[in-house]
Amino acid sequence: MSFTLAIVGRPNVGKSTLFNRLVGKKLALVDDQPGVTRDLREGEARLGDIRFTVIDTAGLEEATDESLQGRMRKLTERAVDMADVCLFMIDARAGVTATDEVFAEILRKRAARVLLAANKSEGSAADAGVLEAYGLGLGEPLRISAEHGEGMSELFSALMPISDEFEEKAAEAETLAPIMDLELPEEDGGEEEAEAAWRPSAERPLQVAVVGRPNAGKSTLINKILGEDRLLTGPEAGITRDSISLRVDWDGTPVKIFDTAGMRKKAKVQDKVEKLSVSDGLRAVKFAEVVVVLLDAAIPFEQQDLRIADLAEREGRAVVVAVNKWDIEDEKQEKLKALKEAFERLLPQLRGAPLVTVSAKTGRGLDRLHDAILKAHEVWNRRIGTGQLNRWLGAMLEQHPPPAPQGRRIRLRYMTQAKTRPPQFVVMCSHPDKLPDSYSRYLVNGLRGDFDMPGTPIRLFMRGQG
Ligand code: GDP
Ligand code: GDP
Repeated sequence: MSFTLAIVGRPNVGKSTLFNRLVGKKLALVDDQPGVTRDLREGEARLGDIRFTVIDTAGLEEATDESLQGRMRKLTERAVDMADVCLFMIDARAGVTATDEVFAEILRKRAARVLLAANKSEGSAADAGVLEAYGLGLGEPLRISAEHGEGMSELFSALMPISDEFEEKAAEAETLAPIMDLELPEEDGGEEEAEAAWRPSAERPLQVAVVGRPNAGKSTLINKILGEDRLLTGPEAGITRDSISLRVDWDGTPVKIFDTAGMRKKAKVQDKVEKLSVSDGLRAVKFAEVVVVLLDAAIPFEQQDLRIADLAEREGRAVVVAVNKWDIEDEKQEKLKALKEAFERLLPQLRGAPLVTVSAKTGRGLDRLHDAILKAHEVWNRRIGTGQLNRWLGAMLEQHPPPAPQGRRIRLRYMTQAKTRPPQFVVMCSHPDKLPDSYSRYLVNGLRGDFDMPGTPIRLFMRGQG
């Protein structure tokens, strides 16, 4: 788990320059489609060996009137709320301005952690401004030059402890989860809170990637989803379009869509940008919580489709299979039956994943796709109580006892869900190495069916008891 850094500050202090430096040239291709507000940009940043997500409140103009000031404030607050750390930037050449003071106030009140950066600090013309920055009461300013790349090692040193802290947290969550679950009594009242945390929200939109072979209709689908939203929300609100991800309110669900298709189209137009490759499919899968594998109804389950679906499963993503161009199919019933058979035969590892027929062109079936994505996401995040699981395990063992190699029955004593996203279960077992895979499959399929868990990989681990 890495952290999120928001670069905030008034216009023209050099936020985008730093953003581009941190993210690298890949993101520098910014979409400037008219009618699309691109208010928050997000990218994957690297500084030395630290990796993190960076947010830039790009596209702001200097606030001269009330409404613009309000908008600037709102946008900044949104970025601050999304971030684990804020990098508050001032222009050291201009010194501290009244607008800077306004931003400093927001940060003091709202931000989890603030780093102060005095930008444009190359040369002595910035000295006075750097001194003034101390007066903001946000600690010692980092003296940087985003344009010239100066002060990056100081920024690195300031981010290092934060990065360590987040890595430790992640590692702790990994190792402690199973143990903690074993020792805690079940249903400790924190459930509701935990449940609310994963639900899609403006701060944490549901992350969706649409993948599939060229011409499957990815761009058409994404545009359809965006287009309808644009009508609903008007030009001011909501949609951010950059080359990586698109934010959209899709029928009331805040969603972030990874746009491989748009990237590729863009690459075709600007031939100086390198051709986007299979690795973008991989990046999309890594980005996503739910992966939509979009098939062309005329040529479904091509090698490339199978590869990416398998990848999504191995990466532990929730998967929804959507069959596109359904508007031009005649024999719909037969076709659907054949598709389902092919799906089971070719992608047994995705058993139970929903298959939805859509027409990206007409918009038909998009509501069902929306619901399938939401459901898959819910299941992916689901936590089943330990008591309930063990009652279920008892019934499963009774119905079909584990084998008894050399006359000694393998005992499955206890079961708990160690993790979510995707659901991961641990079973305490007397001889885990002797338990046949078929028995694990019996349990996984049972879990899927009995707890209604379509569209998510289920991990089951057998653990010995020492
Ligand atoms: P934003 O509006 O805060 O995103 O600012 P930009 O990144 O667009 O930068 C505003 C202007 O400041 C641009 O003309 C940049 O070239 C310039 N700029 C950015 N960083 C530096 C720097 O470190 N030194 C100097 N001298 N100019 C910079
Ligand atoms: P991408 O390469 O996956 O982004 O695919 P595009 O969105 O560019 O679509 C490829 C072609 O399929 C275009 O000519 C689209 O008009 C067409 N197409 C996309 N969705 C549909 C659909 O639902 N029905 C029909 N009939 N054609 C579609």
